[in-house]
Amino acid sequence: MIDYEEVGNVEDCCWGWRSAFPSLGDIYVPGEGGGRPVAFIIGEAPGAQEVMHRRPFVGPAGRVLRDLMSVAGLRATEQWSNGSDDHPETIGAVAPNCWLTNVVKFRPPGNRKPTESEIKTARASLRQEWVAVGRPDIIIPVGGIALEAVLGKCDQSAILRTAGKCHTAMNKDGHTMYIWPMLHPSVGLRKPSMRTTLERDWELLGEWIDGTYQRTIE
Ligand code: URA
Repeated sequence: MIDYEEVGNVEDCCWGWRSAFPSLGDIYVPGEGGGRPVAFIIGEAPGAQEVMHRRPFVGPAGRVLRDLMSVAGLRATEQWSNGSDDHPETIGAVAPNCWLTNVVKFRPPGNRKPTESEIKTARASLRQEWVAVGRPDIIIPVGGIALEAVLGKCDQSAILRTAGKCHTAMNKDGHTMYIWPMLHPSVGLRKPSMRTTLERDWELLGEWIDGTYQRTIE
């Protein structure tokens, strides 16, 4: 169950550490989702569109991600579109079942990647957010930065070795989590030939969720 008051405290926590990183933007982009989230999807940081709308993953990479999420039966918002690039139309409304957020909630200047020290510092607020939204069992870091935030530290190729597979981990509280790293959706924009790989990975995740969580996901 989501504790919305605690979700609000995540923002306070993020503002608390932001002053140590004055180069970051000063618009907070919160996570979004609802229902009883079974999955916690983590990106790296908001871009220009995300800052404009104050919502995660609403730019071009976001459109790719939201399409991939629907392949796996995951939704962070109630509305879904017909997939048209020019005029996305709402054609349905179904209950959200996951939470979508970023490691860093402020835009890094010039679209640079979050630094190691920003990632390290943001980890505490990310964990607080995971607890606030009901500790979803499935953690989906999209891209190397998010994977680094989840694991603490990893080399740059870790995302390539681990993407599209389920990794079981136990956290400090003895809570078993399923970590499904995924390639960052922007890969699908830079290399359209990778769309098939991305879709296959999310399809596999969807099949696994259906098999494991049939009773939890409507
Ligand atoms: N938009 C986001 O919100 N996060 C990303 O990682 C990329 C685009």
